[in-house]
Amino acid sequence: MKIFCIGRNYAEHAAELNNPLPQNPIVFMKPPTALLLDNKPFYHPTFSKEIHFELEVVLKIKKNGKQVLPEFADDYYDEIGLGIDFTARDLQDELKQKGHPWEIAKSFDHSAVLSPFFPLKNFDKNNIPFVLKVNGQVRQDGNTKNMIFPFNDLICYVSKYFTLQKGDLIYTGTPAGVGKIEIGDHLEGFLGDQKILECRIK
Ligand code: ZN
Repeated sequence: MKIFCIGRNYAEHAAELNNPLPQNPIVFMKPPTALLLDNKPFYHPTFSKEIHFELEVVLKIKKNGKQVLPEFADDYYDEIGLGIDFTARDLQDELKQKGHPWEIAKSFDHSAVLSPFFPLKNFDKNNIPFVLKVNGQVRQDGNTKNMIFPFNDLICYVSKYFTLQKGDLIYTGTPAGVGKIEIGDHLEGFLGDQKILECRIK
């Protein structure tokens, strides 16, 4: 099972980190050991002083496929959830500066918080609001209509390089508002108006 993540898929988020807009989706991966399920707490690791939350809509791949054509992209997913792509921003900035890979900043244990999944047919996939609250305050207020590369583009692009397998996940990028977590924080993720994810920082 593979976990794909998309970087800089929302223009306002790219701008807040002073990154240029990508010409193609930016793809990286996390291993299955990154998953944190069932609203379990996240234990702040000691290797970073600046872990950021990034709330993202997550697609679950429903069948195997490679080099998927745009007209068939819809057939590869029918459930969505929310995830948090925890990022050690201090390490990432250092690695980016040196031109090194991001893995230790992005793919460490429990860096992929994941909610349960819901049928996509209950949503208008091009207009899904999602919100992250930290200690009751709205910190990220996103909508899939603002994605630079919509879901189908991601399916086509990722499957050009990697065979999609049933059960794979795609974290589709974070909107603006990312920020640092502190021990004691309480994170809540809302898909539409339904709370489907919760995570306490310990
Ligand atoms: Zn992300």
